[in-house]
Amino acid sequence: MTDQATKLATYSNWESVPSHLKTRSALKKMGLRPRRGQKRVAIKTHWHWKTPDYDLYDLNRCVPNIISDKQRAALDKAKQQSLESRTCHRCGWVQELSRHYRGKQYLQGGHCPNCWDDIRRKSDRAEAIEWAGETLKQEGVLILDSETTDFEGEIIELAVINLQGETLYNRRFKPSLEIHPGATAAHGIKAEDLANEPTFESEYAAIRDLLASAKLVLIYNADFDYHALLRTCRLYNCETLIFEHDCLMEWYAAYCNQWSYHHRSYRWQPLNGDHSALGDCRAALAVLKEMSEADKEDSVR
Ligand SMILES: [Zn+2]
Repeated sequence: MTDQATKLATYSNWESVPSHLKTRSALKKMGLRPRRGQKRVAIKTHWHWKTPDYDLYDLNRCVPNIISDKQRAALDKAKQQSLESRTCHRCGWVQELSRHYRGKQYLQGGHCPNCWDDIRRKSDRAEAIEWAGETLKQEGVLILDSETTDFEGEIIELAVINLQGETLYNRRFKPSLEIHPGATAAHGIKAEDLANEPTFESEYAAIRDLLASAKLVLIYNADFDYHALLRTCRLYNCETLIFEHDCLMEWYAAYCNQWSYHHRSYRWQPLNGDHSALGDCRAALAVLKEMSEADKEDSVR
């Protein structure tokens, strides 16, 4: 405590504070303020250490709290700027000046987090629709699908169609690996069905030439089929097939626009094919057409 503070009168409850002693906020409500250099004359203490003491000023020495028009205008302008910087340009949401705010800026480029999300998702969907339309107009685009012995197995059925829906390739292969019962449950192909089929190796050149002729090969879940092709080539000591490909499933996920906050990506949509290589190629083509025919301005389905 300073020397001055020790001389100050202290009051522990409001009832005992003389009526001419006021706090700053009480003075403000009365349209008054302490004059320049005016010192507090007393303090109101509080029993709880966390609650600060109030400075009390002599009402009779205070002056009217008048601010100039210029000061008022500057204050209004600052308030207006603050409000504008906290208002979303798109939806009008306002970041409140709560105690959690503390100058934190939640808006980015004038948009609230919700609107940002919305804008990004709309643009992803529009991009997918545009991509589908452009892709359908291109020459030399093929669609490929395969069935395998296992999730990590070799290819036992491969189909390739063009964008007119014509079948360019559709064959089954006799595998050297066993077919997992789970795989059979999905595509219905059993080992005995393949006893008289050619091997992948004997069909390799035809597949390679067909894929090499394509400008782009679309695959629904490209990761799966492309790696199945790589594995099957390795298994039969065939040279790795290199071709331009794109994943239709990822484009379709952006088009369907169901954002998964858990996966931080668009939810993958199942392909409603018949789980044969050819049937799935046709289902993939239908997906591409569906996307190209959608209205970009339409909001999320
Ligand atoms: Zn907004």
